[in-house]
Amino acid sequence: MSTIYSARWVLPVSTSPIENGAVAIEGQRIAGVGPRSEIVERFPEFRVEDFGGAVILPGLINSHTHLELTAMRGYLENEERDFFAWLRKLTVARLERLTPDDIQVSATWGACEAVRAGITCVADASDSALMSMHALQEVGLRGVVYQESFGPDARLAAENFEKLKVKLQELRATETGLVRAGVSPHAPYTVCGPQLEMIADLAKSENFPVMMHAAESEAEELFLREGCGVFAEGLARRSIEWKAPRMSTIQYLKQCGILHTFPVLAHCIRVDDEDIETLRNYHVKVAHCPKSNAKLGHGRAPLGKFLEAGVIVGLGSDSVASNNTCDILEEARFATLFARAGGSDVSAADAFNAATLGGELTEGAQADLAVVSLNGVHQTPSYDPVATLIFSSSGRDVIRTVIAGREVFRDGRVTTVDEDRLHARMNEISAKLSV
Ligand SMILES: [Zn+2]
Repeated sequence: MSTIYSARWVLPVSTSPIENGAVAIEGQRIAGVGPRSEIVERFPEFRVEDFGGAVILPGLINSHTHLELTAMRGYLENEERDFFAWLRKLTVARLERLTPDDIQVSATWGACEAVRAGITCVADASDSALMSMHALQEVGLRGVVYQESFGPDARLAAENFEKLKVKLQELRATETGLVRAGVSPHAPYTVCGPQLEMIADLAKSENFPVMMHAAESEAEELFLREGCGVFAEGLARRSIEWKAPRMSTIQYLKQCGILHTFPVLAHCIRVDDEDIETLRNYHVKVAHCPKSNAKLGHGRAPLGKFLEAGVIVGLGSDSVASNNTCDILEEARFATLFARAGGSDVSAADAFNAATLGGELTEGAQADLAVVSLNGVHQTPSYDPVATLIFSSSGRDVIRTVIAGREVFRDGRVTTVDEDRLHARMNEISAKLSV
């Protein structure tokens, strides 16, 4: 049915906020945006739904997440001071303790959490990419699912690469108009140089989007610059040869061809001025994950410098194993506060742009939007809708999420899946993991 949503505020992004605004939706697309009176007159046949004291905004975009790890929310709190132990416990749990159905449930639960928080599009890196793909499609999310690739041993690079190609073919066969397949070499300390080069070539020739963890931890920096630290010791124990390139992660990824794929790079904490210029010149999209970076003690990415230099920045929750929620409004608040704590002048509008990453409410665009209530005690009074969104609101204030014209979250429920069944299964999985 064709619908008009109206609210006290509409934030089209492409134009100034509209007080008493409305958005008309026909099928998957936006048919019109403007003052409520104009839109109602222009589309007299459309059903009108008024949200009152609320704001309608373009759907939020989660630029970096791992939905399959949702079952590990809070599971790794004791390992957080030791990134190597954290990664090991996570990997063992995923590979040895969870069944394929557990991982499927975990990913679908994560997708529910996303749409409940007004997120309409995710960039999801997954070892079980087919399951993440299924989760996004079941819940009705838009996004890219990136098949992860691991392999620090150069002797196995060709073999690992062949396995990856098979997985990518399977993944591509499940693409829809809403969800695309991509590839994610996990990190510079888990994938060797030759494998990175092969993946970069494949991504270019087969047109796969690329996502990668980059410049995240001190251990990673030590590994690449000096060839020592916990990652080097881990490889030595497995008799894997590693010669440090003795440069920053960003320059190393440029050398391996990864930057030539216009990748999304998650974290980018340990970057200098030369690296920032490189990120801008190669049109790298940085997935800034302020909460994950803080919780794991990895530091703060230089958001103010990125924005000043014209680097494209989106916001990512990372997995809830390191966060512990998938909530882009919260990420936007933390991004702004951390930047200001470090002396950078980052505005609420800057954070809002990163949270919506180019999304606009404009005639003809895909109808992806979120409606956030502004009626909460914690939001009242509201003098400026963007400031209230960024500084006083969270995903829990979202009351409606629409993706390609479809209402995937309304009246407090995800409309596309059986959340009660998933909730019961999540409790079973956590009981198993806690033994
Ligand atoms: Zn990550």
